[in-house]
Amino acid sequence: MFRLSVRWSVAIGLAGGVISGSGTRLAAQAITTGEIDGDLRFLSSDLLEGRAPATRGGQLASAYIASALQGAGLAPGYKGSFLQPVSIDVVSADQSAIRVAVSGAATSVLRDPDDVVVWSGSATETATAHGELVFVGYGVAAPEYHWDDFKGIDLTGKVLLILVNDPPATSAEPGLFDGPAMTYYGRWTYKFEEAERRGAVGALIIHDTDRAGYPWHTVVGSWAKAQRMLPRDPGLPAPLGVRGWITDSAATALLARAGLDLAALRARAATRDFRPVATGITVDASIPSRVEHLTSDNVVGVVPGRDPALRGQYVVFTAHWDHLGIGPAVNGDSIYNGAEDNASGVADGLAMARAAAALPPARRPRRSLLFLFVTAEESGLLGSAYFAGHPPVPASALIADLNIDGGNLLGVVRDLTVLGEHKSTLGASLAAYVAPRGLRLAPDAHPEKGYFYRSDHFSFARVGVPSVSIGPGTDYVGRDRTWGVEQDDAYTAHRYHQPSDEYRPDFDLRGAVQLSELVLGFGESLADAPTVPTWLPTAEFHRAGGTAAVQ
Ligand SMILES: [Zn+2]
Repeated sequence: MFRLSVRWSVAIGLAGGVISGSGTRLAAQAITTGEIDGDLRFLSSDLLEGRAPATRGGQLASAYIASALQGAGLAPGYKGSFLQPVSIDVVSADQSAIRVAVSGAATSVLRDPDDVVVWSGSATETATAHGELVFVGYGVAAPEYHWDDFKGIDLTGKVLLILVNDPPATSAEPGLFDGPAMTYYGRWTYKFEEAERRGAVGALIIHDTDRAGYPWHTVVGSWAKAQRMLPRDPGLPAPLGVRGWITDSAATALLARAGLDLAALRARAATRDFRPVATGITVDASIPSRVEHLTSDNVVGVVPGRDPALRGQYVVFTAHWDHLGIGPAVNGDSIYNGAEDNASGVADGLAMARAAAALPPARRPRRSLLFLFVTAEESGLLGSAYFAGHPPVPASALIADLNIDGGNLLGVVRDLTVLGEHKSTLGASLAAYVAPRGLRLAPDAHPEKGYFYRSDHFSFARVGVPSVSIGPGTDYVGRDRTWGVEQDDAYTAHRYHQPSDEYRPDFDLRGAVQLSELVLGFGESLADAPTVPTWLPTAEFHRAGGTAAVQ
């Protein structure tokens, strides 16, 4: 086994002594490929049965992580325990009994899943929505873009019909809604949340393969099945009775029978003076479901900071431990091991926790470091959302979240991929941290896909904590520039969320050591810095709650 720092320094020609034998500025103990290999091998083994929340394999994973944190000398991070219990409601609709009828200007039944895919908006056995269908354009209220599709119109008791994605940028305003990059206003999650804030009883998003970024069968595959959700906290708006998607062709036909032209409505929706359009169509939807209550655990440990005045502030490191469990067999294998997604991130996080805790108290950073391994990411970021909503200290004391969802198993890189680089000062700080270490940040290859909103760091963004996900880029030392891109594509095509995402003896874990040392070292630098990270003015998330997008 080789210590990465030696290899890495040689490989990229760093001047000796700059990093003093380690990518981590403060580390007393170097991170090794061996420790990452051990954790990765165990967490992704068939014994853990794919680590689904609230299964035996999932419980073994969280118990193992808690033991590892305790053994490394971290302090328990939640009410004296390493475990934070998370309640999860599982809502299984009786798909054959779902009924969506429309009456008034047009009378018919919408077929599920050919015309619509609907599901219950909360953990209830009889979800219903009965109300007039109102077309609300993109359904966006974005003060920072001076955009309001609602114009103060009361939508209480209505069923909203909403276009997917952001309002398109125009030649007059190319920066509108961040141009080709997706903002949170474009995500389906935002559309449903905004509909709830408006008092609607239901919401249907009009599917469009181009603008959604995925075909209708992905909609069917994602939502025509049991849905997992957190029990709703008191104080939030009443949940929608019914959430759903409708195909573009079904929406077009439905509106046509009411004398409305979807293409014309879509054009109006792309302008600031758009106003909601009542359709005269009444929607009557009902979904009978079975509801099950599960409990899983976030795992959390703390390395206290050395400065009594600042140790009440925390840099958070996150990685989700859950994966998909046991599912449909592919090539005779039904265990979805999730080696890369995300046993790799957990192994990196455990290595970072051990290295951080090995520092003598007097050499630790001024602020505290909080290592958080969350459950139920694959069910919609539920574990991290629960933690962010129920943190052990006020969310305002969490100064940043650095997330790893997919570590580096392929060797040492010269670039990093950062989700959220341009949302907060973390992007520039990270670029400045890695530059003297011979690395740069790669631009987001797919800003239109909105990946920023799709992993656990986003749960922290929603409560105002500056956050990024950090992973390898595609420029691997000793490889041709196209090799890394090919590896990414092969992963997406052949292993992502499949049983074949499993441990391989040919993983090159020097990349995992590099990533762990960089993320830990960067986090330690934040924990020692005179100022804390902040959102950029263009981001949707501000700590003071200055945006309607986040509650
Ligand atoms: Zn993941």
